[in-house]
Amino acid sequence: MATREKRYVIIGNGIAGTTAADTLRKNDPNCSIHLLTNEPYPLYNRVSLPRFLQGVITEQKVMIRDFAWHEQRNIKLVTETLVTGVNTEERVVITDTGEHLPYDALLIASGGWANPLRVPGAEGTKHIYNFVTLDDTKTIIERMLESRTALAYGGSFIAYELCDGFAVRKLHTTWLMRGPYWLRNALDEEGGEVVDNIAKKFGVEVIHNDEIESVLPKDGVPHYVKTKKGREIQADMIGVGLGITLNTQFLKDTSVEIRQGIVVNEYLETNIPGVFAAGDVAEFYDPTIGHHHTMGTWDNAMAHGRIAGANMAGDRKPYIDVPTYTSPLFDVNIAVIGTAEANNPELEMVARREPGEKGNDNYRRLYLRDNRLVGALMIGSPKGRKKLVDLIKNQQLLATSAEREAVLTLK
Ligand SMILES: Cc1cc2nc3c(=O)[nH]c(=O)nc-3n(C[C@H](O)[C@H](O)[C@H](O)COP(=O)(O)OP(=O)(O)OC[C@H]3O[C@@H](n4cnc5c(N)ncnc54)[C@H](O)[C@@H]3O)c2cc1C
Repeated sequence: MATREKRYVIIGNGIAGTTAADTLRKNDPNCSIHLLTNEPYPLYNRVSLPRFLQGVITEQKVMIRDFAWHEQRNIKLVTETLVTGVNTEERVVITDTGEHLPYDALLIASGGWANPLRVPGAEGTKHIYNFVTLDDTKTIIERMLESRTALAYGGSFIAYELCDGFAVRKLHTTWLMRGPYWLRNALDEEGGEVVDNIAKKFGVEVIHNDEIESVLPKDGVPHYVKTKKGREIQADMIGVGLGITLNTQFLKDTSVEIRQGIVVNEYLETNIPGVFAAGDVAEFYDPTIGHHHTMGTWDNAMAHGRIAGANMAGDRKPYIDVPTYTSPLFDVNIAVIGTAEANNPELEMVARREPGEKGNDNYRRLYLRDNRLVGALMIGSPKGRKKLVDLIKNQQLLATSAEREAVLTLK
């Protein structure tokens, strides 16, 4: 008797979802694959959006896949379609276009959407931007070309990317953040100061420990921003990086377990058989730190996609990796390797700051659990990054100050 082809549905065509679709097709030439997204584009590189924002690369260079790539692999890419519900008992995915797509295995790779600015005066005012999608980037660029002043708001990666983009495009830029320094979940005050100094070199005015109280618009566009401490900051446009909310709303009528993210085991499967999660939206088990967490990095999402795709097709591969986040930071680089969580009480941290190139300082911080390296953060020179990844993979014991010093100065 002929067996029916397997049906796979994937929610989200980011790097996690698209990698999983590719892996499924490689594992099973006959299966049906639906790859769903509310966005209008095939996979593009979110990591490249800051360079597109700065005008360093074109939109074409941001695109990774085209529609033909999906057709050639018989992957049904369904764009501009929002998933509104999932029925895990009947194994059906429901969309806003009224489709009911049956599945044998489902992957949720829906990432997160940016939190908007919610203060008096913001609602209904144009030119207040989030920065997550290609469409966000295009509209920000349009406005940058007609603006003179800009405000970047937030202490996150996204806020500094916005700040960098504004400054490189020669807008008079203010960077306002609520915390005492940038990236307070990973850095310390000294690391924050290294970053401030780099931003200031590019003419950015940096303000800490203050927040937007209200936006004071004129003719429907931003004019001034008022802060809680009474500052008035002029801004023709505002870019906000206030974190993301993971996209799990369509699971509200299911019993899929959600904590910070969608909880998965080491095979990236949820508590509901046949339902997997991958990428930013997944709260996964990380053997290097011995518990679950979420991680918003490209490498992690891609590796998740590969493992989830294989396991949906019947494999049983555990996810073990040391994800790395590297990004330009004004005229230097930043690399985050493994788990760099300053507020994790199980971790111990040591840091070193020393003069680097182009008048900037190099800064390196190590994160240890039970004297073993689990993460590292580097600002400035990325030299020694690969060795650090190996040390984390090998769960290297760094018990003495001499051993730690050797790693802090590793080239
Ligand atoms: C500006 C920017 C710069 C970054 N820079 C770096 C960097 O330098 N290094 C790094 O490692 N990481 C970086 N990141 C993070 C990295 O891009 C993400 O970790 C990664 O793209 C996550 O991939 P994903 O596939 O899990 O989710 P996503 O890329 O978020 O894809 C999820 C897709 O699912 C869609 N979706 C959500 N809900 C639904 C629904 N209900 N129905 C249909 N579709 C839905 C979303 O719209 C989206 O298209 C950056 C992110 C941004 C925004």
